[in-house]
Amino acid sequence: MNSQVQQIPIENDKNIQLYIKREDLIHPFISGNKYRKLKYNLLEAKRLKKDTILTFGGAFSNHIAAMAYAARINGLKAIGVIRGEELQGEINVNSTLKFAQENGMSFHFVTREDYRNKTSQYFQDELKNRFGDFYLIPEGGTNHQAVKGCEEILNSKDAQYDYICTCVGTGGTISGLINASKKYQKILGFPALKGHFLSEEIAKFANNENWQLINDYHFGGYAKINTSLVTFINAFKLKYDIPLDPIYTGKMLFGIMDMIKLGKFESDSKILIIHTGGIQGIEGMNQRLKAKSMPLIYV
Ligand SMILES: *Cc1c(COP(=O)(O)O)cnc(C)c1O
Repeated sequence: MNSQVQQIPIENDKNIQLYIKREDLIHPFISGNKYRKLKYNLLEAKRLKKDTILTFGGAFSNHIAAMAYAARINGLKAIGVIRGEELQGEINVNSTLKFAQENGMSFHFVTREDYRNKTSQYFQDELKNRFGDFYLIPEGGTNHQAVKGCEEILNSKDAQYDYICTCVGTGGTISGLINASKKYQKILGFPALKGHFLSEEIAKFANNENWQLINDYHFGGYAKINTSLVTFINAFKLKYDIPLDPIYTGKMLFGIMDMIKLGKFESDSKILIIHTGGIQGIEGMNQRLKAKSMPLIYV
């Protein structure tokens, strides 16, 4: 499946051209990179004759929302292990969890401490005791199947670009892009969190060294946001009619525009930006912004 590429007209005196690949339009509920990451995992779960998928995520996780919907339409049961026990009583006011529940996902809420230890043998054994046999998809959906799916984001027409830019959470998406890129292309990743271990994780999956992480635009860390980011996302939507999410794509686009201004790209560069989706997260972020009396993201 190829998603459409559109040019983002920008004014600059170096003839830098920006394009965006609208992976956010792939599917209304399994959007962007989550569609790519789940594709081969769902096939693998079916091949192994599993009837239940278990995965992990935080309060407003795009992965949890996509997983719930994808499991339902594939006739699989889904269990979400959710970070934060307090969320148990907030399902109805949390747009992401509400959506996942409506799509049949059942939840297991755990403390932040347990969540941090989720890959330990002890925790995994406890999940097996509690839920029986399941197909496990790690946090953010990143594993070899996911990377294979993300390799399909690029096609032969994309060989014309000098740079390919993507957001980075757990590193699965950028790994797929690296594997599918040409050696002369440079893959720039914009981490949405203060990224320790990310480079190691990417090196584990990626078979090329033409990549770099740009760590200057995480806005203080995962899901951290300020008014200038909200203003940027709203202005971008008005000018180009392209929605950006506050956790990933908004921060990346802010970064790319800033880097162009700072002269970080060579003259005549052609840059392809991957819109990884995440639009479902706007509603949850707006609730938090509203509670803090901050300006909201336009929907
Ligand atoms: C999950 C997600 C990412 C992060 O992808 P990784 O493969 O975990 O690096 C980026 N953008 C959006 C919109 C996402 O939902």
